[in-house]
Amino acid sequence: MAIERTFSIIKPDATARNLTGKIVAMLEAAGLRVVAQKRLYMTRAQAEGFYAVHKERPFFGELCTYMTSGPVVVQVLQGDNAIARNREIMGATDPAKAADGTIRKTYGEGIERNCVHGSDAPETAAEEIAYFFAQTEIVG
Ligand code: ADP
Ligand code: MG
Repeated sequence: MAIERTFSIIKPDATARNLTGKIVAMLEAAGLRVVAQKRLYMTRAQAEGFYAVHKERPFFGELCTYMTSGPVVVQVLQGDNAIARNREIMGATDPAKAADGTIRKTYGEGIERNCVHGSDAPETAAEEIAYFFAQTEIVG
């Protein structure tokens, strides 16, 4: 298995409920290592750029409002197959459809307020990491 890096966000619904530590514990238990992390408010422009792939979707405006509604914790996660492993421990987008034991099933409030983001492919992981982190901030 290849060591990979992926990009993760602990979203505003989760930081509001003080779940950062509990979510990090689930990521670590899944074999992922936090190699960069910071807490910040996303600007509207950052959120719109980050989710540009969804700009034609009906939920785009609401999604950007939600993502700027409170602090987020952006992270780089490293580990064997980190991209797929993180998607696995996150669970399905809709918490109601997510598998037992996943972050979204355990803590998600709904299809929008679903606690976490994770990159879906090597190309998006590289882009998303670079969107928020300088190489010097990532300590593997
Ligand atoms: P994922 O985060 O699982 O990769 P998507 O890339 O499809 O899911 O969507 C990005 C984010 O947009 C989701 O995590 C969720 O917060 C929000 N979202 C997705 N689908 C909907 C929807 N039907 N209604 C409201 N928000 C949604
Ligand atoms: Mg996605």
